[in-house]
Amino acid sequence: MSQEAGRSTGERPLQQSLLRGALLKCPACGVGSLFTRYLKVADNCAHCGEALHHHRADDAPAYFTIVIVGHVIVSLVLAVEMAYHPPLWVHAAIWLPMTILVALAALAPIKGLLVSLQWALLMHGFDPNHEEEIGDRLAPPTA
Ligand SMILES: [Zn+2]
Repeated sequence: MSQEAGRSTGERPLQQSLLRGALLKCPACGVGSLFTRYLKVADNCAHCGEALHHHRADDAPAYFTIVIVGHVIVSLVLAVEMAYHPPLWVHAAIWLPMTILVALAALAPIKGLLVSLQWALLMHGFDPNHEEEIGDRLAPPTA
């Protein structure tokens, strides 16, 4: 057997993987769900069994969400202010809830995209030749 259980060694087309991840689907098959809950990545794909627990998302999804949503919302705030000059309470009533909703809606697709990127580029444990790790340290050799 040329591949370890749950570790695909086949083709990993980047664009297809990113699209599948952004759609919250397994980057390997595009059928199984990437998440078990809102932001909890499944350990393995329920459809194809691909190991997905190797991802290292950390704060990157939140960072990219803040950058993207911030640019969109701030642009809209400035455009509305320039065009209509609404009072501050109108800005607060519109933009605070919209910022929260857009950020919550964007967070899962951005995390899916980042996990799929790691999968497609064989980063971390997604590389079949990657050594097993315990936490952030290499596992001690077994004699
Ligand atoms: Zn799958």
